[in-house]
Amino acid sequence: MNEAPSSYRTTDLGADQGSDLGADLSVERSAERGTDGNGDGRAGPHRTRVPAPASDAASPLARPLDVSIVIPMFNEVENLRELVDRVGSALAPTRWRFELILVDDGSHDGSAALLRKLAEDNHWLHPVVLARNYGQSIALQAGFDRAQGRYVVTLDADLQNDPADIPALVERLERDPGIDVISGWRQNRQDKALSRRLPSVLANRLISRATGVHLHDYGCALKAYRREIIERLRLYGELHRFIPSLASEAGARIVEVPVRHHPRTRGTSKYGIDRTFRVVLDLVLVVFFLRYRQRPLHAFGGLGLWLLVPGGAILAYLLALKLLGQDIGGRPLLLSGVILVLIGAQLIVAGLTGELLIRLYHEGGRQPQYYTREAREPGAHEPGAREPGAREPGAREPGAHEPGAHEPGAHEADADEAGASEPREREVLVREPSQRGPMNGGASR
Ligand code: UDP
Ligand code: MG
Repeated sequence: MNEAPSSYRTTDLGADQGSDLGADLSVERSAERGTDGNGDGRAGPHRTRVPAPASDAASPLARPLDVSIVIPMFNEVENLRELVDRVGSALAPTRWRFELILVDDGSHDGSAALLRKLAEDNHWLHPVVLARNYGQSIALQAGFDRAQGRYVVTLDADLQNDPADIPALVERLERDPGIDVISGWRQNRQDKALSRRLPSVLANRLISRATGVHLHDYGCALKAYRREIIERLRLYGELHRFIPSLASEAGARIVEVPVRHHPRTRGTSKYGIDRTFRVVLDLVLVVFFLRYRQRPLHAFGGLGLWLLVPGGAILAYLLALKLLGQDIGGRPLLLSGVILVLIGAQLIVAGLTGELLIRLYHEGGRQPQYYTREAREPGAHEPGAREPGAREPGAREPGAHEPGAHEPGAHEADADEAGASEPREREVLVREPSQRGPMNGGASR
């Protein structure tokens, strides 16, 4: 679902402030496709590289950011101050350089004003204020577009997720290059049983089965990613609930780890039971996308053939009768045959149109059809060289410092400490969707 132009607008919150906030808020998004907006040589039409805050950019010793925390929020003013404090207390003692990208999704409860105030006191807080309420997925995307850290962590703004869990997740990504995404699992979920937990259990089973990516808790917002994976995703509608499936399709290796969960004490939930129906519809979209994005002719054309062949056989049979002198004009079978042939042919044409679109998408938009983990190109000097335009998950960005390289011994020790604090025995390595069959098919994988 890599797509190009922005589907949302931001408000320049910082311009009238005279603060360096403006550096983050008055973002000019490049409308030009195929430009290297990332500064990493990667054709990245949809990425917006936001300049680092003036103070950082000016320093020759500036290090790239390690962690970007992205939080979408809609009318959460009562939680905002504590949220920022708790993220700061969780990350400040760590060795990582971090930023908190708080995306105000069109709140009308005074959140933007408070955000502005909090950002004056916390240089690592980068507010983004959307022009209206777009929904959680687009708000997340607005944060992803601006994330500069090697790792991206998401959570909700209502303090149901615990910011104190963030360091263990990041530590795990840093320690284990074999993992690209860590998905939180609210084992002690603090929500109502009937209206929340039960539908959620059913939805998790359904999504796991349908997409082949088996998770206990698709709905947990607390997740940590390597940024390379985030760059491969494009969120629309309410697809934030399906990020693990989409990430898996984009080549990510995922683990699910237990995280804390608290009841909502302030503000109200933005979703009702009606979301269940939207989840089912979105699931149809995601399954179609995962299976047939690369080969729409097989989806439409397959069904088309099932109709066209029997329709053709019926018409051939009626033609034979006609040639033998029988009157076929009033036979219902004639109508069935004609309808089957017409619909079948239309479906095949729809599949061919889909094939044209997918070629335009990949070739015109220069969207990669696949991502590699390793590839040795002929003539390449370094192992792990890869095709232009695709960065490997786990690969460091040019110029990014090696994790823990500044403290060779300390890194192992830190990792062990973090490991001790994680409830690892309950951790689940998400089953690779190896049985997907058609999902993995095609030249794209
Ligand atoms: N949210 C948002 N835009 C919306 C709805 C929700 O940014 O249109 C944010 C909300 O402020 C919260 C997160 O998305 O930070 C999850 O929402 P909520 O806690 O209401 O969902 P629940 O936990 O009840 O499923
Ligand atoms: Mg919540």
